[in-house]
Amino acid sequence: MGSTSSDARFDRYYRRIQLGLRLLAHGARAQTACDWSGLTPDRLITLKRRWLPDAGDGFRGPAPTSFQPFFRSAVRLANATVFASIHHSLCQRSIPPGESWELQPGLENGERLCSAFEIFREWEPDADLEFDQAALLARGAANSENIELLRCLKCHSAMLIDKWARRREVCSGCRSRRDANP
Ligand SMILES: [Zn+2]
Repeated sequence: MGSTSSDARFDRYYRRIQLGLRLLAHGARAQTACDWSGLTPDRLITLKRRWLPDAGDGFRGPAPTSFQPFFRSAVRLANATVFASIHHSLCQRSIPPGESWELQPGLENGERLCSAFEIFREWEPDADLEFDQAALLARGAANSENIELLRCLKCHSAMLIDKWARRREVCSGCRSRRDANP
């Protein structure tokens, strides 16, 4: 029995290392990379020196906690909506429907978050969305804390809403079309 369980342990350990490297490559803050990969700061520093010697130091200062910046401009909101939608669709594929689930840092959730960020970067290479902001968005939308990802009642496109702001049922595109042709 020993070999199977140690293989499984090695497999998880190896996945943690891969996840840690992906997080560092995306510029995640050190604390964020530790939280999601489960690796210690020392382990991450060693990995970074060895495998990503040219990577910058990542972002410094406290991780973002406010959702307000995502609502400050139409472009930011559009980017945030695209990222939250990508993450949401990856979650739908891997989490059985009806299962109660909260997005907390961990190996599988971290792998999914990195995949969503990588897809987003392919889609919108010039977007101003750093990894820690993406992690905040993913948690906020998945756990319905402060923000919600809904569908426009009229055109069914995805829309991200601030839960505490005035309730919107249609997206900004449909609102401006309606205002133009009342
Ligand atoms: Zn709409």
